[in-house]
Amino acid sequence: LTLLLIGSGGREHALAWKLAQSPLCRRLLIAPGNPGTAAHGTNLALDVTDHAAVIAACRREGVDVVVVGPEAPLVAGLVDALAEAGIRAFGPNAAAAQLEGSKAFTKELCREFAIPTAGFARFRDVAPALAYLRAGRIPVVVKADGLAAGKGVVVAETLEQAEAAVENMLGGGMGAAGAEVVIEECMVGEEASLFALCDGTRAVLLGTAQDHKRVHDGDKGPNTGGMGAYSPAPVLTPELEAEVMERIIRPTLDGMRARGTPFSGILYAGLMLTEEGPMLIEYNTRFGDPECEVLMPRLASDLVPLLLAAAAGDLSGVVPEWRDEVALTVIMAAPGYPGTVAKGSEIRGLAEAEAAGALVFQAGTKRDGDRLVADGGRVLAVTALGRDVREAQGRAYAALDRIDWPEGFCRRDIGWRAVARET
Ligand code: ATP
Repeated sequence: LTLLLIGSGGREHALAWKLAQSPLCRRLLIAPGNPGTAAHGTNLALDVTDHAAVIAACRREGVDVVVVGPEAPLVAGLVDALAEAGIRAFGPNAAAAQLEGSKAFTKELCREFAIPTAGFARFRDVAPALAYLRAGRIPVVVKADGLAAGKGVVVAETLEQAEAAVENMLGGGMGAAGAEVVIEECMVGEEASLFALCDGTRAVLLGTAQDHKRVHDGDKGPNTGGMGAYSPAPVLTPELEAEVMERIIRPTLDGMRARGTPFSGILYAGLMLTEEGPMLIEYNTRFGDPECEVLMPRLASDLVPLLLAAAAGDLSGVVPEWRDEVALTVIMAAPGYPGTVAKGSEIRGLAEAEAAGALVFQAGTKRDGDRLVADGGRVLAVTALGRDVREAQGRAYAALDRIDWPEGFCRRDIGWRAVARET
């Protein structure tokens, strides 16, 4: 098969690494890809927001199936455009991708199908939203409805913060994503993520993970796209996994099907493990980044047949197999991240890090002649396997310390919760 993978982050490098190992994959194309994905296939300089250009490239290259990594093309309807052109694709269509593209959509679905989540209200105008906040409890969570690359959520500890968030979002501070806000009760508990591979009807568990969103050690500082992750998430016991599949994932698939918009692709549930049981924080409709960088190394099964079965609408009998090891990844970021980053510093020593037993997935990198330079916020995901989180953590940091990139920084405590649980 000729596969076309859409995206250019660490997630796509991990997917490219895994897809290229499949005996079914004769040719792998990545659009636009990054210097890391180029080691596993051919990068295509394509504007993936231009659906006609993607379709033309598929026809020219004889692409059999397209795998969409990031959320933006899903929400923009790339899978719909491909389907119309008769090209197979893995990932939800635009109607189903609303589970990620609109927080209000997902909250309404939860209400209709009794899926456990925080209570909420929706607003398009400032005055009623402020009145609602003033009559309600603090802390409270204010969210922009649309895609905001992780920057659309404010967990407000004071009424003033909540009011400011509402005024900013509804006042146009977040563009179209903030035209509507969702105000939610604040849930308390530990967070974890669960990934389900879905075919429109059925869901198959595709692993669990925990990530570290804050930029500094000890979970301090501003939120980021994720500074590291490990899989599985030991806090999600087999009993809790089953409960999430039964009470959250299954009714979501049933509800989407009942509405005539079945969900096919990766359903990534952000969960809060509360005293009343697991509750849904939000859905994403694709692999997480950096979660993908820990799920792929653990997956023993060939990924290609799994994606094909989901895209074909028939996951019956599909049981993914896993290595009996845990994986941990540490993100190396460019100075300034998650604010304005300094680009262009040279990165060396990736081969040395890989020789130390790690997988180094690239995200914001670019080639500059024969040098590899930083070209984004999150730059590398240094991943290692181990018998337990402590061992994987030790190996990941030992490899990371061989990377010669003085400008880059990372957290030094990725995995701390799980390590504490192990000891
Ligand atoms: P992501 O980057 O994961 O896509 P996002 O910006 O789409 O994030 P959410 O995952 O909905 O937003 O929220 C971000 C974070 O805010 C959560 O990981 C959680 O820590 C916190 N949060 C969101 N909703 C709630 C809630 N109702 N109660 C408590 N905390 C919440």
